[in-house]
Amino acid sequence: TCVNRAKQCPGDAVSVVKLPSNLETDTTHRYGPNSFKIHGLPHPRPGCVLGLLGTNGIGKSTALKILSGTLKPNLGNFVTPAEWQDIVTYYRGSDLQNYFTRVLENQLKVAVKPQLDAAFQRRLRGKKVKDMIKSRDERNKMNEICASLDLTHLLERDVGKLSGGELQRFVVACTLVKDADVYMFDEATSFLDVKQRLQVTEAIRALCDKTMWEGGEEDAMSKYVVVVEHDLAILDYMSDFVQCLYGCPGAYGVVTKRSNVRNGINQFLAGYIEQENMRFRNHALTFKVAATDFFVNDDVAGELEDGKQAAATEGKLGTIRYPAMSKTYSTVAKGENVPDSKPGTSFTLNIEAGDFRDGEVIALMGENGCGKTTFMELLAGNTKDQRGKESTIGTNANNVSSDTANPSLASLGVSYKTQNNNPKHRKFEGTVRDLLEETINSSLCDRLFRLLVVRALQVEELEDLKVSSLSGGEMQRLAITICLGTPASVYLIDEPSAGLDCEQRVIAAKVMKRWIVNHMGKTCFLVEHDFVMATAMADRVIVYEGTPGVECTATAPRSVNEGFNNFLKRLDVTFRRDPINFRPRINKKNSRKDQEQKEKGCYFLFD
Ligand code: ADP
Ligand code: ADP
Ligand code: MG
Repeated sequence: TCVNRAKQCPGDAVSVVKLPSNLETDTTHRYGPNSFKIHGLPHPRPGCVLGLLGTNGIGKSTALKILSGTLKPNLGNFVTPAEWQDIVTYYRGSDLQNYFTRVLENQLKVAVKPQLDAAFQRRLRGKKVKDMIKSRDERNKMNEICASLDLTHLLERDVGKLSGGELQRFVVACTLVKDADVYMFDEATSFLDVKQRLQVTEAIRALCDKTMWEGGEEDAMSKYVVVVEHDLAILDYMSDFVQCLYGCPGAYGVVTKRSNVRNGINQFLAGYIEQENMRFRNHALTFKVAATDFFVNDDVAGELEDGKQAAATEGKLGTIRYPAMSKTYSTVAKGENVPDSKPGTSFTLNIEAGDFRDGEVIALMGENGCGKTTFMELLAGNTKDQRGKESTIGTNANNVSSDTANPSLASLGVSYKTQNNNPKHRKFEGTVRDLLEETINSSLCDRLFRLLVVRALQVEELEDLKVSSLSGGEMQRLAITICLGTPASVYLIDEPSAGLDCEQRVIAAKVMKRWIVNHMGKTCFLVEHDFVMATAMADRVIVYEGTPGVECTATAPRSVNEGFNNFLKRLDVTFRRDPINFRPRINKKNSRKDQEQKEKGCYFLFD
């Protein structure tokens, strides 16, 4: 299947790309005849964080492997590959000459945070968190770094039993404690909540901070830091410069020149590289303020029946109320490995009474371990807890028996994409087409569904593949498709961006909102930590308050402004919008804008 997959240039996104003629000969590395090739390389700069931005399969990891010295670039000639000496000569006069000279002389020590997958964690089963970090602690900063990444309470745990977010912070810590010249982070924020993403960002940026090194400024100014990041708000905040990769995923990738962060991200979203006069996508990705504007420029817009309008005229636009509720998980025994929990505590979730309407997306915003999934499970009517024990649900006031207080919407029809996706689907033996036919056959016959969901999410080109061979991002797109294809009144979608690249995230946000809200006129509850995606989709917001893993309260749904404002205030972070494509951008801490907005109490500024 590998070759077939490599040959495709999927979707409308990239079909317009023709390789600039000067690059036909200017290849940096080619894996073999008819396999993937990369043109150009990232040019890291000492003392700075360089961000890499690009879709999956476009060569980001390949570029990191070359810069880390583990993959010797063959300059396109795999018959008589180049030697490091040739490579140094090839890059004479550029930043990379000095860089590769040091690689050649074995003088560059590289620390890499790899991309995480299930196999990675499996290999580390039985190892203790503390031991693994300690054995790498060349900077003697273990305690400080663990505290800054909120790992201290996990030190005694088995690595094999960490949750996705805990594992991510653990591996980042293992990389940061090393004493290296080059630090590389291949997707360091997946599975983290917004607060943790900001903590990781600060910790990575601290590598170029003179107060963090014995040698002071000289040390800090000599460190190279390279990050691959799909959360655009975080990439923006983390990097000093960015380089984009475009091309045809699986076939070739072109690395753009280094540019400042704002321009780099904007030109990626625009699909047009100005310096090179190169259009690599035939449409721009934008984040307009009003929900309806989010869907302009669409070929099929005219065909879309307006589900919201239709429901309103039929008088079907209902409001559904749910009562105040609470749910308690019994005490977690000390040392017991329940992810995202503090040992020795029980967890209580209080939910304020609230309501939801047809045709809206309600975003659940809160830290990991504060009960977002628990709320989703309650709505879905799953009263068994995650370990299969029957649990009790009562209203706050008088502990009504679970039957009367059960907020389950099951009778209304619920379609639920769980956080880790359905294990039955993951283990399915057969092709993607088989699974789609087994789960959502009737939707598949709907031409609009095929067009607006199956094709738009690029699931069409997966149809002949075995489900078991799918990557995390491919499985995620399939899970979203199945969720949307299941007729329901309420859609529960837990962390849909996990595994998706920056471009797929923008597309998925658009697909979900367009299908559920605009077309079907239904309700969607969404858990999403990618702030760009959450703000693009949300019509109202539930904010979680309290101490994760101990006791938290979910507020009633609030307006977008009030909800996000409240959420960001708790994080002490302010956002503004980019005037060109309206994407939310984090203000640098204590910058003028940051201080101004905080004084006014506008943490989330719309314009
Ligand atoms: P990204 O990190 O942007 O997702 P990668 O650099 O991992 O992309 O991969 C780019 C392309 O190179 C993919 O199509 C991948 O299948 C291919 N590739 C990666 N490693 C090898 C290899 N050792 N031999 C042949 N092809 C490879
Ligand atoms: P979120 O989705 O916001 O990350 P969850 O709803 O998954 O949070 O979990 C909330 C809290 O409940 C966490 O502290 C978690 O450890 C705890 N928890 C979840 N399931 C169980 C369980 N079966 N037994 C005990 N505690 C649990
Ligand atoms: Mg969760």
